[in-house]
Amino acid sequence: MSAEVRVRGWCPGAWRPMATGDGLLVRVRPRLGRLTRGQMLALCDAAEAFGSGLIELTSRANLQLRGVSEAGWPGLMDVLVAQGLVDPVPQAERRPPLLLAPDWQAGDATHEAARLLQAHLAELPDLPDKVGLALDAGPAPVLSDASADFRLERSASGALQPRASGGLLVRADGRARGTPVASVAAAVELLVRLAHWFVDSGGRDAGRMRRHRAPLPAWAPASIRPAEAGPRLALGDHARGRVLGLPFGRAPAPAWRAAVDPAEVTAVRVTPWRRLLVEGAVEAAVPGLLDDDRDPRLSADACPGAPYCAQASVETLALAERLSGLVAGAVHVSGCPKGCARRQPAEVCLTGRASRFDLIVGGRADDTPEATGLTDAEVLAALEEKNG
Ligand code: SF4
Repeated sequence: MSAEVRVRGWCPGAWRPMATGDGLLVRVRPRLGRLTRGQMLALCDAAEAFGSGLIELTSRANLQLRGVSEAGWPGLMDVLVAQGLVDPVPQAERRPPLLLAPDWQAGDATHEAARLLQAHLAELPDLPDKVGLALDAGPAPVLSDASADFRLERSASGALQPRASGGLLVRADGRARGTPVASVAAAVELLVRLAHWFVDSGGRDAGRMRRHRAPLPAWAPASIRPAEAGPRLALGDHARGRVLGLPFGRAPAPAWRAAVDPAEVTAVRVTPWRRLLVEGAVEAAVPGLLDDDRDPRLSADACPGAPYCAQASVETLALAERLSGLVAGAVHVSGCPKGCARRQPAEVCLTGRASRFDLIVGGRADDTPEATGLTDAEVLAALEEKNG
């Protein structure tokens, strides 16, 4: 298996893993946002055999393995390809990712659009790395906050007939209104056409549709609003099984394995919200995973830290857990100034340095600290003092 297409940079994939502080990061895009039980178990085994054992769920509903060595990468790819988790053709990974509303049903508009688009992916132009499509044609859009550049959604009138084609629209990200379409096939045709327009109108310079200032073409009038956004999947019981949360967006392989271990489980669907929809699940609680929507670990950010990452001189996860709920606003605990887990500033950011923490208020992991060289206990004391 050749590694010639492997590069360093943004948007890693499986064929293009990214070198990070803890080895190669290998990202997998599950087809239709769903893994069978067998695929999930194989991914758990591969994470332990070839990586650090951690499996992460990204904000674009991709799965990533960390800590993969250069020497182990070819063997990992053999497993991922054999399991149908990665396309054997490296170029296929360059096609734009499809993000599906996780609650899609076989034959509904979201599923049908994904099926058609997969057949037409080769017709799409060469798009910037981060450009993606959201297929979100349930009764109410649920992916409005998720990263995507063109969206298939439903208008308020279409929300009344979610399994039919009524009220479908295609919306460019950043625009409040979309273009009505008469059918799923027409929506897919329009998505492909808009992707070409994006490139031809200079969208490559902007990088993302939201930043692209060119007026939409006359043949894609933005005339109709999508329906009001619907809620995210709530943790707990679900008509298909059970929804489970991932603390800080990741868990070690044994926790993932436990989630799919019952024989009643058939598959796992991924979401952009640190939540998994386990189909057919019967277990009420899974050690290491979350079942309470109020758990602050669903929103706080922490990188893997020590011992997972060689760049880290501190453990991040234990402190992040202790801080969760103590701080009003965003919390970020980073093993080093690289700040892999969060690019934006956080109300409280702790950065590891020489086995201690630096405290940054309202900034990023590489910003100037307010206090340096703190132990875990001193961090907690400093924050309690701040809280009054
Ligand atoms: S931020 Fe964390 S994961 Fe990234 S290199 Fe530093 S210690 Fe490693």
